[in-house]
Amino acid sequence: TMSTDRNFRAQKSVCPFCGVGCGVEYSEKSGKGTGWEGPVNTKGEMCPKGAAAFDFVDHEDRLTRPMVREDGELVPASWEEAFERIEEDLGSIVEEHGADALGFFASSNATNEENYVYQKLARMLGTNNVDNCARLCHASTVAAMSERFGAGAMTNTLDDLTEADVYLVAGANPAEQHPVAFRSYFLPAIRDGGEMIHVDPRENSTTDAAGIHLPVKPGYDIPLFNAMAAAILEEGLEDEAFLEERVSNVDEFKAHIERIDVEENAKLAGVDPDELREAARTYAEADRAAIFTGMGMSQHHCGTDNVHSLLNLSLLTGNVGRRGTGVNPLRGQNNVQGAGDVGALPNILPGYEPVEDEAARERVAEVWGVEPPATPGLTEVELTHEFGDSVKGAFVFAENPAVTEPHSGRVEEELQSLDCLVVLDLFETETAKHADVLLPGSSWAEKSGTVTNTDRQAIRMRPNADLPGDARLDLEIISEIGARLTGRPEAFDYDGPEEVFDEITDVSPIYAGMSYDGIGESSQRWPFPEGADSGTEVLHREEFATGEKTAPLVPLEHVPPADELEEDELALTTGRVLQHFNSGALSRRSETLMRMRGEDVLQIHPDDAEPRGIEDGDLVRVENERGEVEVEAAVTPAVREGAVFLTFHYADPLTNTLTGDALDPVAKIPEYKHSGVSVEPVDG
Ligand code: SF4
Repeated sequence: TMSTDRNFRAQKSVCPFCGVGCGVEYSEKSGKGTGWEGPVNTKGEMCPKGAAAFDFVDHEDRLTRPMVREDGELVPASWEEAFERIEEDLGSIVEEHGADALGFFASSNATNEENYVYQKLARMLGTNNVDNCARLCHASTVAAMSERFGAGAMTNTLDDLTEADVYLVAGANPAEQHPVAFRSYFLPAIRDGGEMIHVDPRENSTTDAAGIHLPVKPGYDIPLFNAMAAAILEEGLEDEAFLEERVSNVDEFKAHIERIDVEENAKLAGVDPDELREAARTYAEADRAAIFTGMGMSQHHCGTDNVHSLLNLSLLTGNVGRRGTGVNPLRGQNNVQGAGDVGALPNILPGYEPVEDEAARERVAEVWGVEPPATPGLTEVELTHEFGDSVKGAFVFAENPAVTEPHSGRVEEELQSLDCLVVLDLFETETAKHADVLLPGSSWAEKSGTVTNTDRQAIRMRPNADLPGDARLDLEIISEIGARLTGRPEAFDYDGPEEVFDEITDVSPIYAGMSYDGIGESSQRWPFPEGADSGTEVLHREEFATGEKTAPLVPLEHVPPADELEEDELALTTGRVLQHFNSGALSRRSETLMRMRGEDVLQIHPDDAEPRGIEDGDLVRVENERGEVEVEAAVTPAVREGAVFLTFHYADPLTNTLTGDALDPVAKIPEYKHSGVSVEPVDG
């Protein structure tokens, strides 16, 4: 890394990594990130990622001037040249093929204001082809929760969840992925007598705090949670009063579940039936029980049904609409919640209003002067699949699909087949290597604006550094492109993020009562209706956000994983570790974090390693019909028999070479968490 004198200074901002939303600022003393007493990390707590948040800001790889492709090479250009090239190339695609021939990849790592203006640009051009990588993490959660509860977000707040007696954590590893939330909210409650049930194929730091661990087989969540529902009903532990008052479809659900054999389903899911019964009892008998759900649930081609199976448990036991209960997705990126809130999704307008809703479109048109299109656009993975066919041009804003999308061999080719790829980022990422125009944007540390954290709090960011070289603020870049492509400069003429935020409160009903000033150095939480004094903490108290008093129970069947395991194949499941973040574009540029964990390893159970002649530390080849990677083996009973584990933080091994692109039919999320692979020693 280089050291510069880009005027680093301490100003209260928000950590660029996970969705907890800790307050972070620059420390003159250490040259590192340090916590301020933010709305979430109220004592200024911090995790290793937050402390390393400035490391990449100053990295020598930072892009400092625009580049355009000439004769196959990316060469430096002026901003005017870069903008003209975008105007010409994307403009002519729209002229020739229509706006749906473009794809817009928004960023869950960028501010609400940037994402809002970005989706406005796409929609004013005439396409709903705008999505963000929430598609790849919690799209299924949002789909299931919106359908039944009317809101795709945490039903509760981190704070009220400290009152829970039982935490059921499914497919999530908050101890490593949401460290400050875990340490400051969950752990004290557990020490106070709270119990944790951890459902995960792999033992990790979260399991250490759990009284019960159900090491579910990857892809068998529905049989497991159906069996828990069956055990609850068999033992009469359901909440009859709640079922009577707040739940519909009860009889049909009961009839479905009565046919389920708890022992058989437990075995199918690969867990001990007695432990499963114990877990069911613990959850159902608690006065307040809260569910946390993560990507282990959502990233399946039945991800939406997986989440439905958790919603069933909460309704069956009356654990929703009160403090210390609910179903709570933990969000991965610092603004993955906000990017969705402000409409960077192909089927919804700002505030989760469907694009098909005429009244919502008209309300937006009043502010924009142009009505957004009425047909839902394509999702991220659908878009890359259309590259070179119906989609000819793409604008990728601070995302890295070459590393993050499944079946990455195919993604490479698809990126290559575009007539024009515009990338706005900090670095020449694996995706940016394919760009025709590469724009140097602003890091979190150089911008202002708001982000919305995992428990629905909008918090303000403030610049801690000056921009490097010719880099510009993302909001200005997107606004300039919007003005040029739409030919309506007045719609993109903003003084700064505050003015954009004002517009968001006009367009998005869930932000209507908020204000930039009101947030100040604190936060405001949605839903925050016009005229209210504050946002709502616990959702669905008297009625669900659908406007209904009741939500339905939904009967579900097991959906076998898309990859059928061949004889002696293992199920590869993927995830994150404490020291790194998503595609690694940011965290791999921190020396500290690389020192802590420089390389990936394949976790494999001793009973799977032994017959393959694999010993701890051996180099192994992990392979299927989509591709292969080589990586060191870590032989450990932490991962269950029959499953192996890799992270997706590294470009080498590029884990997503192996993952499949079978999509959930509702949420279009790919099945990252179950891929059939063979594993063998490289020299074997
Ligand atoms: Fe940043 Fe999340 Fe760590 Fe807080 S817990 S410092 S938000 S990575």
